[in-house]
Amino acid sequence: MKKALSSLGGLVYSTDAGRMCPDCRQPLADCRCKANAAAAALAAGDGVARVSRETKGRGGKAVTVVKGVALDAVALAALGKQLKAACGTGGTVKDGVIEIQGDHIDKVMAALKAQGHTVKRAGG
Ligand SMILES: [Zn+2]
Repeated sequence: MKKALSSLGGLVYSTDAGRMCPDCRQPLADCRCKANAAAAALAAGDGVARVSRETKGRGGKAVTVVKGVALDAVALAALGKQLKAACGTGGTVKDGVIEIQGDHIDKVMAALKAQGHTVKRAGG
């Protein structure tokens, strides 16, 4: 079995186009391991929450985006709820990113600071 796997290993790395992910054994083009790891790393971040305003691809409608908050998914969802309430608007929490509808950078940053988070304003 071990031999079969290692010969498979030699095969899957033979060409760039045919490269497979060693973790999920999907073609790299379809592999989400790296993206998931990157999202997790981004979500865990360096303990600094980054708040930005984004409008791209949303028909010009602004959303306030919070990334890098060092909280687990449950706590992050709760925080998202608090931020929505503080801003009196809607929003989503997905993949470690909180999105608050509208341009509420100042309110969001103040709310995060009040909870003891280190906050930076990011581009956008
Ligand atoms: Zn993979």
